[in-house]
Amino acid sequence: MPVSDAVVIGSGPNGLVAANLLADQGWDVTVLEAQQTAGGAVRSASDVHDGFIHDTFSSFYPLGVASPTIRGLQLERHGLEWVNAPAVAGTPFMSGEWAVMHRTPEETAAALDALAPGDGQAWLDVCAGWQKVGDAVVAALLDPFPPVRSGARVAAKLPGAGGLDFVRMMLSPLQSMAGQRFKGNGAQMLLAGNAAHADIPMDAPGSTIMAWLLAMIGQHLGYPVPKGGAGMFSGAMVRRFTSEGGDLRVGHHARRVLVRDGRATGVETDDGQVFTARRAVLADVSAPALYGGLVPTEELPSRLLRRMKRFEWDPGTVKVDFALSGPVPWASTPAAAPGTVHIAESIDEIRQNGAHLAAGAVPAVPFLLCGQMAVADPTRAPQGGESLWLYTHVPHHTTSDAGDGTITGRWDRDDAERMADRMQARVEAYAPGFGDRVLARRVLGPRELEARDENLVGGSVNGGTAGLHQQLIFRPVPGLGRPETPVKGLYLASASAHPGGGVHGACGSNAARAALAHDRVRAARSLIATGRKDVPA
Ligand SMILES: Cc1cc2nc3c(=O)[nH]c(=O)nc-3n(C[C@H](O)[C@H](O)[C@H](O)COP(=O)(O)OP(=O)(O)OC[C@H]3O[C@@H](n4cnc5c(N)ncnc54)[C@H](O)[C@@H]3O)c2cc1C
Repeated sequence: MPVSDAVVIGSGPNGLVAANLLADQGWDVTVLEAQQTAGGAVRSASDVHDGFIHDTFSSFYPLGVASPTIRGLQLERHGLEWVNAPAVAGTPFMSGEWAVMHRTPEETAAALDALAPGDGQAWLDVCAGWQKVGDAVVAALLDPFPPVRSGARVAAKLPGAGGLDFVRMMLSPLQSMAGQRFKGNGAQMLLAGNAAHADIPMDAPGSTIMAWLLAMIGQHLGYPVPKGGAGMFSGAMVRRFTSEGGDLRVGHHARRVLVRDGRATGVETDDGQVFTARRAVLADVSAPALYGGLVPTEELPSRLLRRMKRFEWDPGTVKVDFALSGPVPWASTPAAAPGTVHIAESIDEIRQNGAHLAAGAVPAVPFLLCGQMAVADPTRAPQGGESLWLYTHVPHHTTSDAGDGTITGRWDRDDAERMADRMQARVEAYAPGFGDRVLARRVLGPRELEARDENLVGGSVNGGTAGLHQQLIFRPVPGLGRPETPVKGLYLASASAHPGGGVHGACGSNAARAALAHDRVRAARSLIATGRKDVPA
């Protein structure tokens, strides 16, 4: 029976960060991964077409390079190399114009001014706020909740960033904030395209925070990708972990967290093997899979179980990967090619998409996120080719198809392929002749995504909605907000925990830090108890 200090269930980026941080402190750590390949939603393979590398799920890692935890792992020493596209992000319009976020605020401002005079300075103003307070905000968001020290740093820097005006801007829905500050659609879409990586409606508070955070990180740090594919990122975390003696077991699906006297003592896998944990169990699994799944309901307070019934997933996803014989034939080509492309004509169109999803309708004109991976990293495709992906969101419970009515919401092969056709048709409208360049197409609907990573329930990408009602102390349910669980020695380490989805490693780092802190307290208590016993009466 294998025994270690800690067992980590799941080798997504959060699990791997946690495992690395514990190993750094001299703990023996075993990671159990259900799939045959480690990395969770940070994986790549040559499984779409010979000679092409496709990221299976995530691709761009601005949060990774902004995260003090990931930077601290020094993954470059383990083979990770970041590369960037000539431009960070962009949106094509049917008019032939492009909104482009260039690599510096000044270049972006000049491009925005050409679309709508005055928007350049407005962009620089937003950037100036970021330059004053951005680092502190990122630290506060990624720190364990409540972020006492980093929160105080944000408060101290706020007056320089505009004080109450800045706070008001952050609390405004993006649709009003962007409309008030920018005249043109271009700057508005640079913000909205980023906000739409989360499922916060454009007319709801929280959308500006998300837009500001992602757009400003992109503007100041880029949207880097790992040279050679997303798997090089998780691979570097694995190599770092195993080089410290860590034990990674792929093809090991955990079915139960073992609990004795209210404390987690180990993990049992599907084949009945028991992995004993002397100090802690860290679960890089979704909150619903942990509470009442891996941990039986009888070990959990009824209040938590009641609250879990109201846990909300973020919407499902359909992702389409293409191997292309040449670059995307955009109707007009931007001066510098962006790696990330957001396809929507306006903020209002994205808002309507969100409203459709909320009402259970499959969008007729889907908002598309798109990655031109060979633009960012030429190793992803044979010379001259392109490794492209698109993804869009779909409802978990479909009530109607706002398009031609042919999508049922069963998300079987037929539904997924029809949705992929709708997405491809949208690209074709901006890039006539696109279809002629397709050498191979792979469609991953909600079921296929979940089959490749069971945390992506129904194709949810963020471990639960990013809406304000399920963030901070409300994540994953009201009252928690921290990685500790009602079972001693058991920690929630996945994106279902604060601060949520994205590859920043903070959920794993928070869980590891909590496990280390509790272990120190436990060790001190047992020392005191031993000392008392040793003192002669
Ligand atoms: C299509 C897509 C695109 C995305 N794009 C981006 C992007 O460009 N940039 C970005 O920052 N983020 C992106 N994300 C989000 C990001 O990938 C996730 O938020 C992040 O991977 C979450 O990490 P995690 O470690 O919490 O979980 P995951 O990465 O989901 O990993 C969980 C791991 O645990 C394993 N597991 C689960 N249950 C068990 C069990 N019982 N036993 C053993 N193993 C188990 C799973 O097999 C999986 O390997 C994207 C996600 C998707 C799906």
